[in-house]
Amino acid sequence: MLCPSCNQFAAQSADSDPELELDVDQVTDDAVIVTGNARIVVTSECCGDELKEANFDVEISMDFEGERVCYCDSFAVVSASASTTEDYDRTKTTTLKDGTVKTTPIAPRYQTHYYGVEVEVTIRCDCGKTELEGTFSDKIPASSMDELV
Ligand SMILES: [Zn+2]
Ligand SMILES: [Zn+2]
Repeated sequence: MLCPSCNQFAAQSADSDPELELDVDQVTDDAVIVTGNARIVVTSECCGDELKEANFDVEISMDFEGERVCYCDSFAVVSASASTTEDYDRTKTTTLKDGTVKTTPIAPRYQTHYYGVEVEVTIRCDCGKTELEGTFSDKIPASSMDELV
């Protein structure tokens, strides 16, 4: 892809932080469910222009483990952070007829290149006694992202 600012072939960077919007969606007897959206962008290394993006629907269910220490039915997000991830499918697994699973390396040019997101969230109830943490991660093939240039 060409960088719009300098018109050179651009090395792609996943260094920028995702945009994250999270809200407490539902409080049930067993868990609190946080939902929202995370947007990642791939930028040009030379000028920082946005080249492509992907949006992830985030859903994190956090269980009350054991006894609940209080019975607040209202929770708020107290901290949330997200990072952009990048990885490759370096191996593939196949199951043979006799049931054994075989792992074989994939040649670099055939490896699927992924970008993704990792989210961490902490929520707290109104009285402050119950605090829960949850994580979410997802990824998308780089070739399936929406191009912005
Ligand atoms: Zn550039
Ligand atoms: Zn409480």
